Amino acid sequence: MIPRTVPTWQTKSWQEELSDLIQDPAILLERLQLGPEWLKPALDASIHFPLRATESYVSRIRPGDPQDPLLLQILPLAEELKPAPDYQKDPLEEARFTPVPGLVHKYQSRVLLVAATQCAINCRYCFRRHFPYEEHQLSRPEWLAALDYIRRAPEINEVILSGGDPLSLSDKQLGWLVENIGNIPHIKRLRIHSRYPIILPSRITPELLKAIHHPRLKTVMVMHCNHAQEIDGNVHDAVKAMRGADILVLNQAVLLKKINDNSRILATLSESLFDAGVLPYYLHLLDKVQGAAHFAVAEDRARELYGELLTLLPGFLVPKLVRETPDEGSKTPIPPL
Ligand code: SF4
Repeated sequence: MIPRTVPTWQTKSWQEELSDLIQDPAILLERLQLGPEWLKPALDASIHFPLRATESYVSRIRPGDPQDPLLLQILPLAEELKPAPDYQKDPLEEARFTPVPGLVHKYQSRVLLVAATQCAINCRYCFRRHFPYEEHQLSRPEWLAALDYIRRAPEINEVILSGGDPLSLSDKQLGWLVENIGNIPHIKRLRIHSRYPIILPSRITPELLKAIHHPRLKTVMVMHCNHAQEIDGNVHDAVKAMRGADILVLNQAVLLKKINDNSRILATLSESLFDAGVLPYYLHLLDKVQGAAHFAVAEDRARELYGELLTLLPGFLVPKLVRETPDEGSKTPIPPL
């Protein structure tokens, strides 16, 4: 575990940190002591998908190392602009599964609410990097229409808050939403997909935990961490607080070239997650989104890594290797080689 330090930014509240994101490539490069040759590609690529990162996350990047696995997840690169024929703007064809604005209903028993239209970080491989969030910024009547859709569909027993990142909403907004979801009798579980426990762990406050609590719902937090270097003492504290609030904490990771495409790195990730109190859940093959082809790991290589991982870890620490395809009724498990 990386030891905890208390630099100046850590004295800020999460709201202050959120309004103080690093969005200028020149500032990021200066902060990380990287040369000017990275600036033009970063500026060009960020026109299409801007740079966004928290100070907290950037503090875990090794200065002077352009290959740092955390840096590669946030730094806009020239490779993003190279055409890649199989890569689409909406690789999962979510538009097809959107019966009302802000709601994706793809799997029978679960429905996904695009609860927030922003993240506190822009991961360069994000499959929603071209998502038309402006069309999904919901007014109160649209929220009510989405809730009404869920109310009328008794086969749905789980609501997933996703985004953007749902923890970008205020506690008040989340509290309203969770209360309304909890008032639908056939909903049993609330799942929250968020990268905040990693990129801004101070977001996990007692007020937030109170806002997302509903006495009738089981709550699951699926956080998103791709490399053990992302886990520090503050992440441990955030997970401990969530577990203390009776929240099951799982992790999903994406298999990413040059970042975690190595079985030792993946094994260390699982071990570090478990040390923090988190169970590995999914290891996703990259969704083929335009601008992210340079992160792709070939399927055979992924299967080989998965086979190696099975020998390195006890079964409960091995995440399921999966691919998501638009026409499947669930994620597709990928077998080891
Ligand atoms: S946190 Fe998730 S939704 Fe947000 S940019 Fe990263 S991958 Fe995309």
